[in-house]
Order: sequence, then structure tokens, then C-alpha cells
Amino acid sequence: MRTRITLACTECKNRNYDTTKDKKTHPDRMEISKYCRFCKKHTLHKETK
Ligand SMILES: [Zn+2]
Repeated sequence: MRTRITLACTECKNRNYDTTKDKKTHPDRMEISKYCRFCKKHTLHKETK
């Protein structure tokens, strides 16, 4: 069972990535370092609703 989530850059707040996650392995909000094309660098991306 996978849930659709959106990952937003914590610096510019842009929603850069749509992905899915397994709620059993990640019950909490995910935080992933990913490349942000607006910041032009890797930033921390957090799961949003
Ligand atoms: Zn950004």
C-alpha cells in the first residue's frame, strides 16, 4: 500500500517532487536531500500534503 506524497524544498518552498512512499516504513514525514532547480543546489525536501 503506497501513498502519494509531494516533496517541497524547505528553503524556497517550491514543490519539486511527486513520489510515493510506504506508510509502514515511513510513518512520519519524510525529509530527503534533493536537488532544487530553483535554489540550484541540493536542499532538504520535506513531505507535504
Ligand atoms: Zn529550493
